Amino acid sequence: MTSILTGFVLACRDHREHDRFYTLYTRERGKVQVMAVGARKFSSKLAAHASPFTELTVMVAHGKLWLKLAGVERGTDFGRIRQELSLFTLGLGLNELMHRAIGEGEPDAGLYAFLADAYAWIQTLPELTGLRLTFVQSALTLKWLVLIGFGPHADACVRCRAPYVQIQQPHISTMHGGLVCGACVREHRSAFADAQVLTQEVLAALRFLSSAPFEALLTDKLDPLLDTLIEIQDAFTHYHLERELRVPTFLQHIATV
Ligand SMILES: [Zn+2]
Repeated sequence: MTSILTGFVLACRDHREHDRFYTLYTRERGKVQVMAVGARKFSSKLAAHASPFTELTVMVAHGKLWLKLAGVERGTDFGRIRQELSLFTLGLGLNELMHRAIGEGEPDAGLYAFLADAYAWIQTLPELTGLRLTFVQSALTLKWLVLIGFGPHADACVRCRAPYVQIQQPHISTMHGGLVCGACVREHRSAFADAQVLTQEVLAALRFLSSAPFEALLTDKLDPLLDTLIEIQDAFTHYHLERELRVPTFLQHIATV
C-alpha cells in the first residue's frame, strides 16, 4: 500500500550506513517519520529533493515498521530561508517547535497553514535589526503557542473575570495564564507573586499581536515596546513549553543555531 502526502521536512537523522529518517509535517497525517533507504548515498535523488522550507509531495510505502519514502516532488520553494542566516534562524525555530512539541499523527489544518504562511512571510523579510529579529522570533513562537491552545488569556482577569477594558493596573501572570487585575494581585499577593505590571500600551499590543497578521510584527509603532514584549512573550513560552509540553531544551537549540 502507498499514500501520497504533502508536507515540509522538519528534521532528519541518519540511520545505519546509508539510510536516513525524515520527520515531515504533513497536511494529511500531521507529523510523520519516513525512512529513506539509501538517502545518504551521493547518488540519491530522494535526498536531493527533500530539503527543508520546500513544500513536498511525497509518495510513501507502508512498511511493517516504517513509512518508506518512495518518491519526492518539489512544490513551492521558500529557498531564501535556506540562504540567509537570519531567515534560516527563524525558519529553523519554527521547525524545532513543530518537531519537538507536536505529537505524531495528528493532522491539523490550522497548524499546517500557519507553517506554510509563516515560511512565505519569512521568505519576504527585509534586513532586520538584531532587536527586531529577536522580537519576531519571540512573537512567532507566541503566535504558535496561541494556535495550539496555550496562549495568554488577555480578554479578562484570570481570577475575577473583570473584562480587560474595566481593568485598572493590569498585570500579567505566566503561572496563571494571562491577565490579572491590580485588585486581585493585592488581595492574593502570594498566589500572584510572579505577576508583572503591564502598561495599557503593552496590554493593547499583546492583544493585537496574538491575532494580527505577520506583517504587524514589523510596524514601527512597536519600537518603544520591543524589549518589554520580548520579555513577556519569552517568559510565557518558556513556562508553557517546559511545564505543559516538557521540552526544556528547545530554546537553547534555537539560540545556538
Ligand atoms: Zn481580578
